[in-house]
Amino acid sequence: MKYEFKDGLEFAKTMDEKDVLRQFRGRFYTNDEEIYMDGNSLGLGSRDAEESLHNILRAWKEEAIRIWGAEDGRYFNYSKVLAHKTKDLINADPEEIIFMGSITTNIHQALATFYKPTKDRYKIMVDELNFPSDIYATKSMIELKGYSIEDALVRVGTRDGRTILEEDIIAEMKDDVALILLPSVLYRSSQLLDMERVTREAHDRGILIGWDLAHSMGSVPHDFKKIDPDFAVWCTYKYLNGGPGATAGMFINRRHFGKSSGLKGWFGSKDESQFLMSHDFDQDRDANGWLLGTHSLFSMAPIEGSLNIFNEAGMVNIRNKSLHITAYLMYLIDSKLARYGYSVGNPREDSRRGGHVALEHEEAYRISLALRDKKVIPDYREPNVIRLAPIALYNTYQEVYRLVEVLEEITVSKIYENYTLDRVTVL
Ligand SMILES: *Cc1c(COP(=O)(O)O)cnc(C)c1O
Repeated sequence: MKYEFKDGLEFAKTMDEKDVLRQFRGRFYTNDEEIYMDGNSLGLGSRDAEESLHNILRAWKEEAIRIWGAEDGRYFNYSKVLAHKTKDLINADPEEIIFMGSITTNIHQALATFYKPTKDRYKIMVDELNFPSDIYATKSMIELKGYSIEDALVRVGTRDGRTILEEDIIAEMKDDVALILLPSVLYRSSQLLDMERVTREAHDRGILIGWDLAHSMGSVPHDFKKIDPDFAVWCTYKYLNGGPGATAGMFINRRHFGKSSGLKGWFGSKDESQFLMSHDFDQDRDANGWLLGTHSLFSMAPIEGSLNIFNEAGMVNIRNKSLHITAYLMYLIDSKLARYGYSVGNPREDSRRGGHVALEHEEAYRISLALRDKKVIPDYREPNVIRLAPIALYNTYQEVYRLVEVLEEITVSKIYENYTLDRVTVL
């Protein structure tokens, strides 16, 4: 898409006035003293999330053990409650969605279920740029099955250090590959992969494929009826604003409902047999058969309120604004910051980018520290990327304009030179 932007704060103000999502900002705990650009790492709290958390606290105080049966069992079946509120974000059936654990545990569950190596087909394909935890989980599952990582792990390479080409993924889909695990959006460069094409090519070759939606859930709408992946995992604390460490989600395609879950626990039982206390596992008929133990209501409650906001706002509106406001940021980087050594490291095409801008600079680390002292919260990723995520639901065009002014000030004054190059724990 071709966007038309102009320099100047007035233009930013006009766009804020025209923003169809502008009424949502007030539902979040924003801080007018600070520009929060880190919603891709930890989304902001909202009044809606707070209210659903309070509801559960109240239910616990008033009901004690009866909380599990209160309100027609909605808290006992809370994963289902959240599944219903998630289905439109990915166009899946609610029976295909569960909430438990973290991305990492859910990858373990998925691989334990779907990775069934045989003599001829025993490899797992990942990419060289994925988040470490996905790779650790994959490696541990390969070792648990008795294979060596050197032999059984295929890592698709990057040509430019930032992105992975779909052609290169497809070229590695050999007859010995059993399963593929890839991110929808790469966490550093913001590249959005063509999930439909890659999934189709995998299936044409008899390979199972799962997607990690960490950086697209709540930012990019997905059509799972079309993409038709075998499984997917996602966290809820990034774009979904579910709170620090909020419970993660998982999608199991309904064509796999008959399969035995790789890891088993009593919450995976059919409702009617869970409390019969038999030692023979009676797996639930749908994705709920992959649940493990008692769910943490306090880690799930804020997700409910937050998902209400997403369903009200609509993923298409969210994506449209996200594309527009990130394009505006790229325009300002090109026109005002390029002369100071800044560049855009993410793909430019709308169809190939997620919700953040990957701003590159050789002094990115020290600039990110200086930004914090100037009340702009970015995040930094080695070796030279400042991730900036203007979030559709709560960031404004004026904040983006101000952010670029601050970046300019920091580089013109070289104030970043006052900071140490030693890495402190980077969040
Ligand atoms: C954020 C993120 C994770 C984090 O995993 P958790 O188990 O939720 O801590 C994993 N993978 C990717 C790609 C991520 O972006």
